Amino acid sequence: MKEIILIKLGEIVLKGLNRRQFEDRLIKNIKKTIKHLGDFEVKSAQSTISVIPQDEFIDLDDVCERVSKVFGIVTYSRAAVCPEKTLESVLETAPEYLSEELECAKTFKVEAKRSDKKFPYKSPEICREAGAAILRAHPHLTVDVHNPDVTVHVEIRDFAAYIHGQPLKGAGGIPVGTGGDAAILISGGIDSPVAAYMMAKRGVHLTAIHFASPPYTSERAEQKVVKLLKKVAQYSGDMNMYTVPFTEIQEAIRKKCPEELFTIIMRRMMMKIAERVAATRRCAALITGESLGQVASQTIHAIACTDAAATMPVFRPLIGMDKQEIIDISYKIDTFETSIEPYEDCCTVFTPKHPRTRPVLEYVERAEREAELDSMVDDAVNNVKVTYINTRED
Ligand code: ATP
Ligand code: MG
Repeated sequence: MKEIILIKLGEIVLKGLNRRQFEDRLIKNIKKTIKHLGDFEVKSAQSTISVIPQDEFIDLDDVCERVSKVFGIVTYSRAAVCPEKTLESVLETAPEYLSEELECAKTFKVEAKRSDKKFPYKSPEICREAGAAILRAHPHLTVDVHNPDVTVHVEIRDFAAYIHGQPLKGAGGIPVGTGGDAAILISGGIDSPVAAYMMAKRGVHLTAIHFASPPYTSERAEQKVVKLLKKVAQYSGDMNMYTVPFTEIQEAIRKKCPEELFTIIMRRMMMKIAERVAATRRCAALITGESLGQVASQTIHAIACTDAAATMPVFRPLIGMDKQEIIDISYKIDTFETSIEPYEDCCTVFTPKHPRTRPVLEYVERAEREAELDSMVDDAVNNVKVTYINTRED
């Protein structure tokens, strides 16, 4: 039986005149994420995007898995294409296509949608006839229009008639690429991959920036970040990761700055460098995984001090979330198990015993000046290493 995937769009529909642009981007994103699975036609008609496999050996489970992670989709359904666009063909296909589900169910109902108004039967007639055909094929069933175990959907569209079960929930959000470009400061921790996912969900195309301090941080710590980004990329699409050499700056901070300001100064230096790297990659904002009050560097005062180092807006999508809420999302996007692998991060190599939770910007800036840290920024920016992160897990 020939099958396709029918996709319903989300907030895109609200975008008025920009709708076309959003839809085109969504189609492009869908094509890109399933390209390696075979040949497909992806087209939009009547507020639905159809993904049509071009050969019969394509595994639609894999395609659905990919589609379920594309932002901009509210629901999607794997559907059978009726061999002909006739009522007879619908009545033959419906009981057969969903026979497994119907066999296990006690009750069902049929919902019909006729977007091709030239089709000679109206929706209530289609429902009645299809319901009768299903009852003939599965006589143990009864109809329950209020709370059925299985809902059989019949869609009569311009090109064909389709049968499917309950639509599945899509990833929501808006298509990546319609919300501009921003750089995620990514560590190997739990929070930053979740922050990346959340901004991609709002349509932002990501670039990743990671600070490494070899030999204090290992090659394996960096590989862990690559592994995390590959998971995120399943939702956000491909991206570049820039690894910034941070050892010399961290050593200079340790040698020349007051210990209680280590962390805040390090974070400010990260912002200054990240902003420079981001700007040359067409990014207009930075993203971090900070959450208010989680650690000493995430108090309101510390965040104000960190922000003062950057001129770009800094997005902190986790700012009001509890750790458990963040962890729940990290499970959902499958980054949790990787995040808790025990590799060191540059943030944890020189942590002061008593970090300032209320740093005063003036003192912090003075300490930075005395240590001549700004003169080291160029060097770090000019020596970033780029790694291409693709959506495949290999
Ligand atoms: P995470 O779980 O994301 O590591 P965290 O709760 O451990 O966050 P911090 O270590 O204070 O918090 O880091 C705060 C944020 O700073 C991170 O969410 C991330 O955006 C950024 N960050 C921390 N370490 C690095 C790094 N090595 N490279 C790039 N960004 C970093
Ligand atoms: Mg961390």
